[in-house]
Amino acid sequence: MNDMDKALFKIGYGLYVVTSNDGNKDNGLIVNSVMQLTSSPKTVAVAINKQNYSHDVIRDTKKMNVNILNTDAPFSVFKNFGFQSGRNADKFENVKSGKAQNGLQVLFENINAFLCLEVRQYVDMGSHGLFICDVTDAGVLNDKETMTYSYYQQNVKPKPQPEKKKGYVCKICGYFYEGEELPEDFVCPTCKHPASDFEKADF
Ligand code: FE
Repeated sequence: MNDMDKALFKIGYGLYVVTSNDGNKDNGLIVNSVMQLTSSPKTVAVAINKQNYSHDVIRDTKKMNVNILNTDAPFSVFKNFGFQSGRNADKFENVKSGKAQNGLQVLFENINAFLCLEVRQYVDMGSHGLFICDVTDAGVLNDKETMTYSYYQQNVKPKPQPEKKKGYVCKICGYFYEGEELPEDFVCPTCKHPASDFEKADF
């Protein structure tokens, strides 16, 4: 990463499930770039990657709901809404949710509030489309802290497990041979004992 990328990475974000409907099916995706622009009128900007199915749906239907995730949200919420495409998955199959006034889904769990948005202006920004929206309705579910991107990185995203080493250990000197199979004619390089003096061991 160069300094410009590093500096951009320092910007603080929240995490949101943005819901939409293509006319047949409810859809949702994880978005980090949501910000209030003005207080009068109440407007919000949402940036969505053009590769996401939701981008096209929202550009065409001109409406979306922003579900503001709180710190209760488990990794499964991110897996469900973030790691698969609405083009071929029903993301609401196992989600407790209901319809807001605008007909779009609102989550009943793991969020502290939601915003119903109507797109006022669409700006093509290259990799992303920027949706400038009016807030038409909203609701507050609880006062739990909003899930920030850094909270997600530190507390929700699974930590990589150290990879287990498979192999055989020499019973005589403790030498470790890494590999699925120990060759029959293997000789311990330190104590010179044969393969028969090795036993299976995983670290
Ligand atoms: Fe040995």
